[in-house]
Amino acid sequence: MTSITAGISDKYELVVGLEVHAQLSTLSKSFSSDPAAFGAGPNQHVSPVSLGHPGTLPRINKRMVEYAVKMGLACNCTINLHNTFARKNYFYADLPKGYQITQDHMPVCLGGTVPVRLADGTVKTVAIHHIHMEDDAGKSMHDQHHADSLIDLNRAGVPLIEIVTEPDIRSSEEAGLFLTEIRKLVRYLDICDGNMEEGSLRCDANISVRLKGAAAYGNRCEVKNLNSMRNVQRAIEHEFERQVNIIEAGGHIDQNTLNFNADTGETSVLRSKEMANDYRYFPEPDLMPLVLNQEFVDKIRASLPELPNQLFEQYTVNLGLSDYDAAVITADRDFALYFQELIKLTDNYKAAANWLMGSVKSYLNETGKSIVDFQLNPTRLAGLIALVDSGKINNSLATQQLFPALLKTNKSAEELAIELNLFINENKSDVVRFIQDAIAKYPEKVIEYQKGKKGVLGLFMGEIMKSSKGKIDPQKTNQLLIKELESK
Ligand code: ADP
Ligand code: MG
Repeated sequence: MTSITAGISDKYELVVGLEVHAQLSTLSKSFSSDPAAFGAGPNQHVSPVSLGHPGTLPRINKRMVEYAVKMGLACNCTINLHNTFARKNYFYADLPKGYQITQDHMPVCLGGTVPVRLADGTVKTVAIHHIHMEDDAGKSMHDQHHADSLIDLNRAGVPLIEIVTEPDIRSSEEAGLFLTEIRKLVRYLDICDGNMEEGSLRCDANISVRLKGAAAYGNRCEVKNLNSMRNVQRAIEHEFERQVNIIEAGGHIDQNTLNFNADTGETSVLRSKEMANDYRYFPEPDLMPLVLNQEFVDKIRASLPELPNQLFEQYTVNLGLSDYDAAVITADRDFALYFQELIKLTDNYKAAANWLMGSVKSYLNETGKSIVDFQLNPTRLAGLIALVDSGKINNSLATQQLFPALLKTNKSAEELAIELNLFINENKSDVVRFIQDAIAKYPEKVIEYQKGKKGVLGLFMGEIMKSSKGKIDPQKTNQLLIKELESK
């Protein structure tokens, strides 16, 4: 496809609404006692209920409802106390019941907002239309056998929530950040592992374009089953160009359902409007309306953990961290939990953030470990921070020698610093000797310094660091060095 020139694309505005499916990490399925766990052998987690055999009856999994309410509260939704279920009928080989149980007119959560922090620091609020509960279909695999498609029904009946946004999203960046926010929320709430590649989080993107300033929305296309953050963004960018090109050429956008091809980055028609499924929704006759009481909802509200936005606020406003630091720390729930423990043990919040985002993160990245398995607990890391703050050891020795050593033992920072002899040499005559040796080694640099080239201080400090094995207080030594150089 020919790409459009900036001048033309600038005339148009992108409009996107997302439908995000999150697979809930309950123990059993939505309407039966079959295990919902991922990873068993094919078709091991099935029973007559998940197969929809005649005579079987669904029974609601309370945990599913609890998780859906949790997500609704985290997204500032109104919780609908009177819930009904509906059948969404279609024929497909991986749907043995012949229908999905879903919610149509009376979903569990209505309205709501998810604030998203954009790269330029502004906050964009994406409105939520509703969140509903439904059960998943099985899984068809078309690439495992040369002639046949294989079907695994372990997933049939696993609980999902679908989060449907208003058409509020205006760029692929916003779409990506919104999804990242949803993934963060489900992980903080511990209701879904948020893994897009494994399909625990799936996204359909509704995309349209309109002339900037136009009041009415354009016709939209819905791109199905996007399985990575990157592909959601690629599909949106591709559709924007494709639709603008069609309109610019005098054409018309047909309201189609599209597939995204990750290899080519292009979309293709899956179903046209005429071929659209008619799901013939009707009230699920086997399930009574589900009436929640306010007490159930209040209890869930009271049990909510602190959410990433609240922590962000706390870190920037109360602890004085930068937006960047707060965003990095709150991006991952386990990381934030560790930080929460750490700041109970130290008042040096900036140092706590620096250690986590620097040495700790690099170590975890290098070893492929999660912070949950990190051997240095908050108490020992706080001990290291306190030791640096006390001025007994300088920061570079703490980073380069003490931190790696701490990872290999269970000793405290102080014990280990004594053992490894890393404390700053308080003996002033030693320090003066290191300075004088360095000065004697580079007489020509002394002259440069006296001529005004202050940059040579770094060279002297490097030399002193080397000869003292880092066991000096850099600030005090720097002052002594200057005094010494100026008296020459
Ligand atoms: P359905 O898929 O059942 O027809 P809706 O029409 O309510 O449901 O819309 C589903 C999704 O499509 C929502 O996320 C909504 O924000 C989005 N959407 C609706 N109209 C447009 C549009 N013109 N452009 C982009 N997205 C849209
Ligand atoms: Mg839809």
